[in-house]
Amino acid sequence: MKSLSFDIVIVGHGAAGLTAAQAAAEATALGRRLSIAVIERAAKGKHGGNTRFTPCYMRMETPGRLSPEFLSEMISVSGGRNDVAYFDRLAREAPDTMGWLQAHGIEFHTPDYYLSVGPARIQPIGGGESIVRELTRAAETAGVHFLYEHEAQTLIRAADGTIMGLVARQSGRDQDILADAVILACGGFQGNSGMLEEHFGLGGSSLVPISPGTRLNTGAGIRMALETGASRSGDWQGMHIEPIDPRACNPAPVVLVYPYGIVVDQTGERFCDEGAGLVHETWEQFARSIHFDTPGRQVYAILDSRLNEIKDFGRAIRSEVPPYEAQTLVQLAQLIQVPPDELERTVLAYNAACVGDPKRFNASVKDGLASDPALVPAKSNWARALDRPPFYAWPLVGAIAYTFGGIATDLDGRVLGAVGAIPGLYAAGEITGHFHGTAPNAVSVLRALVYGRAAGRCAVRDVDPDSA
Ligand SMILES: Cc1cc2nc3c(=O)[nH]c(=O)nc-3n(C[C@H](O)[C@H](O)[C@H](O)COP(=O)(O)OP(=O)(O)OC[C@H]3O[C@@H](n4cnc5c(N)ncnc54)[C@H](O)[C@@H]3O)c2cc1C
Repeated sequence: MKSLSFDIVIVGHGAAGLTAAQAAAEATALGRRLSIAVIERAAKGKHGGNTRFTPCYMRMETPGRLSPEFLSEMISVSGGRNDVAYFDRLAREAPDTMGWLQAHGIEFHTPDYYLSVGPARIQPIGGGESIVRELTRAAETAGVHFLYEHEAQTLIRAADGTIMGLVARQSGRDQDILADAVILACGGFQGNSGMLEEHFGLGGSSLVPISPGTRLNTGAGIRMALETGASRSGDWQGMHIEPIDPRACNPAPVVLVYPYGIVVDQTGERFCDEGAGLVHETWEQFARSIHFDTPGRQVYAILDSRLNEIKDFGRAIRSEVPPYEAQTLVQLAQLIQVPPDELERTVLAYNAACVGDPKRFNASVKDGLASDPALVPAKSNWARALDRPPFYAWPLVGAIAYTFGGIATDLDGRVLGAVGAIPGLYAAGEITGHFHGTAPNAVSVLRALVYGRAAGRCAVRDVDPDSA
């Protein structure tokens, strides 16, 4: 097959790839035209990766402003391990990046989050899908080529290590795509069962992807970069994972009302403090423990009719399937095939430990309505008795959204190897490892946008120094 040739090739059609492509197209010197291509493994219409399926909450007070605590929160969420310089540039460039997106027709609002109040967040109207749609339109207008159903396989290197392009597979045939700069924006390794097992241990390979876009990110870009000498970065034992309803067919069917009831495993026993924190503070650890620590890797959130008293509680339930419902706990246990005696015993013990004044219940904040200290595991907030039928049960499994381990980059998106930047190679978004411990809430898209743009501009400066 004849080889193709471009000045800049970007791998991946999500937030990072699209911002890189559009920024590169705009950075090209007046009167010149760099040829830029985005290659995407999915078919047209299925493109957009994780970005397409995200509600796309972004941790900003308005499109022009971040909270003054942003930087310190980014560091504390990782126990001090996240890189200050990386998040500092993110904070400094986020407002300008949002303004740039607005200029490309993306509108923002301040959304209602699930139920719990947390850091301020903005959201593009239409979620991540609007980012994919509007930036694709802008990039097509700017002359960027889009090659769908092209799956990047390996990077092509010159003898001195400079990246000269890549090999992509289309309809079972390999094709060389030559380029002066390659920007990898093709996500983490959440769609690769072998890598999940290797880095998360037994059970990693059976993790369910949270959306159809999630499974496309198989770590190919990470592998390709490592093969050329890129350094690793980020927390290779870290992932973002959320509790979903396994019965649902809609993407990302999260069920986030578990803090207001109890959660039992398949033997009918509680196994965690359901009210340890606001939902975005606990979901990752909670979903991980469902998958890795409970028999059968499936549990049940149990609630009663008091749920209906929580204003707008439906915001926290994205499953299209109604819960199991019964007038008695025994009937409910039969529906979900949990031992009825055990479920009854667990609920009665929990109810007896709900000793606080239920009038203090407030779903939006940590209300301090804690269980009696004798209850093990404790319930630190929202401990109200479950005694008002009907009773509800949602089955929950842990579903992976993205991984944290990736490749090292400098602040301009150049991929770093043992002795500095690898000439001709750039990366942005999930593929870069910059998160440690717990995912900072509502930051993954933001960093894909800011650093995708930085990588696109840097690639143009390197390929065509006159453009700077
Ligand atoms: C359900 C869900 C909810 C989320 N909610 C939020 C949220 O509210 N806020 C937030 O900040 N983050 C959220 N995230 C995370 C966030 O969406 C992603 O981390 C971010 O969009 C990643 O952008 P990206 O461009 O790096 O990767 P992606 O958007 O995943 O794009 C990667 C692209 O690369 C393509 N690709 C992969 N391998 C190859 C290959 N070998 N060759 C060619 N193409 C390839 C894929 O098909 C895909 O199109 C959520 C994620 C999900 C799934």
